[in-house]
Amino acid sequence: MNSNKLETEKILEIENLTVSFDGFKALKQLNFSMDAGELRVVIGPNGAGKTTFLDVITGKVKPTEGRVLFKGRNLRSLSEHKIARLGIGRKFQTPRIYLNLSVRDNLAIAGSRGKSVFSALFGRGSTAERRNISSLLETIGLASKADGLAGLLSHGEKQRLEIGMLVAQSPDLLLVDEPVAGLTDEETANIGDLLLALAESHSILVIEHDMEFVRQIARKVTVLHEGSVLCEGTIEEVQSDPRVIEVYLGQQPEMQTETEMPVETVREEINAQ
Ligand code: ADP
Ligand code: MG
Repeated sequence: MNSNKLETEKILEIENLTVSFDGFKALKQLNFSMDAGELRVVIGPNGAGKTTFLDVITGKVKPTEGRVLFKGRNLRSLSEHKIARLGIGRKFQTPRIYLNLSVRDNLAIAGSRGKSVFSALFGRGSTAERRNISSLLETIGLASKADGLAGLLSHGEKQRLEIGMLVAQSPDLLLVDEPVAGLTDEETANIGDLLLALAESHSILVIEHDMEFVRQIARKVTVLHEGSVLCEGTIEEVQSDPRVIEVYLGQQPEMQTETEMPVETVREEINAQ
């Protein structure tokens, strides 16, 4: 962030992106770009295309037209798995953590790409690895709960753990989908502080509904509407834009479902690793 080169380098460029689902265009000729080191917040009413936007960046959905460039590289022909390995990490709305493992072991597994789960859990790990996990535990504010079961954490702590698991994979770009849905004000502020701390060394794209939270963290906000960018600017600029006010009028708040990943799914995921 200190060097001019990094500030002007684009981590993400999206050009004329259209995504059709059986003829319905969830994204329409969307253009977007983000500098390396930026913390960007994307907002927009229900159905605006926010989740589809993340799905295209991670390769879950392929563009019908247009392209997505990550650090200048076209992601078109790459699988979801390859894109993740290139350095794009995604946090889903619902925490995907291993409830029956300790907080520390969750971070160890997340950081052990390419190793077996067995060696991640029972191997000694290098000094550097152990130091990384300790420092990550501090960053996410869970050092005192490191040896407790992840399943015993509060919802907000689980969200912080999952963000830590994402960071343990050393992504260059973090995609975070509605991290404060269903959280108390205090937990929301904690997540905001965590994202601000991580933004010092990562590029982060956050999708969010909670305007109080957006005000806490946002520098630059992009508003999506009907699959395109409606406007961009500071939170004050977008909130006073008459087009934004109009598209938000009469909007019902999005239903927030808060379900944990079932234990069976967690087991399957562990076995699949
Ligand atoms: P948001 O996350 O902003 O609420 P989405 O990206 O989930 O919006 O959806 C944008 C639009 O695309 C919605 O109208 C949604 O119904 C539609 N859509 C999303 N995924 C699919 C799909 N797989 N098949 C058909 N329509 C979809
Ligand atoms: Mg969505």
